[in-house]
Amino acid sequence: MEVVILDSPDAVAEYAAATIRSQLQTKPDSTLGLATGNTPLLLYRKLVGLYEQGQIDFSRVHTFNLDEYVGISPNNPQSYRSYMQRELFDHVNIESTRTHLPLLDSGQEYEALIDGLGGIDVQVLGIGENGHIGFNEPTSSLGSRTRVKTLTKSTLDANRSLFGENERQPELAVTMGIATILQSRRILLLATGFKKAQAIRNAVEGPLAAMCPASALQLHAKSTIVLDEEAASRLDQTDYYKWVHKQKMALSVAAV
Ligand code: PGA
Repeated sequence: MEVVILDSPDAVAEYAAATIRSQLQTKPDSTLGLATGNTPLLLYRKLVGLYEQGQIDFSRVHTFNLDEYVGISPNNPQSYRSYMQRELFDHVNIESTRTHLPLLDSGQEYEALIDGLGGIDVQVLGIGENGHIGFNEPTSSLGSRTRVKTLTKSTLDANRSLFGENERQPELAVTMGIATILQSRRILLLATGFKKAQAIRNAVEGPLAAMCPASALQLHAKSTIVLDEEAASRLDQTDYYKWVHKQKMALSVAAV
């Protein structure tokens, strides 16, 4: 696991946007795995900015989102389809037929579609305060595939403020499984703020355990955990992670 600690949420988004830009430069027809929630908002703003400056081209890209609520229509402003249109897809050159979110009862088809396109090249993840990735809540099987999950009280509470008083908050979601996520070639998990510090500690320095689904990334050969100082504040080995990052940067400068 590579742990990158940066000094602000803006730097975290910048790092992720630069990674995606270089991925698309190397492989313009990449398949991206995307996440919703507050954390990637800044990343999407940066990707839109790069597109407006002519520095990134989405015309050959396919995208697969991690999850979608069950029981609200894609047109509902609270759906993750609406979120993706609003935050990214409506502002860049990607055809909607190339953008995918999982639907109820279509887990196997979703997985087949991903496989048919050669798998996900870069998967962006957030992390829940309870350690979830996608909507794989604690105790989700580390071998799980795309399916319906019941959200925990902790997740419902964390997202409640996003719903108006008279809006129904869905309690079910379809989510890629942990095994699905682990099949991506590269994983970028982004976390910012003190609220994520304990989940990050459990994921990075705790045991591999279904109680912390993000700890499954310890099994992945190419996962990068990109944190601001607050999200990194409960880690024990921060000096080491910063030292490694510095060495890596020095090597990449030397290689130019
Ligand atoms: P957040 O959600 O980015 O809104 O904190 C992350 C998640 O629940 O995976």
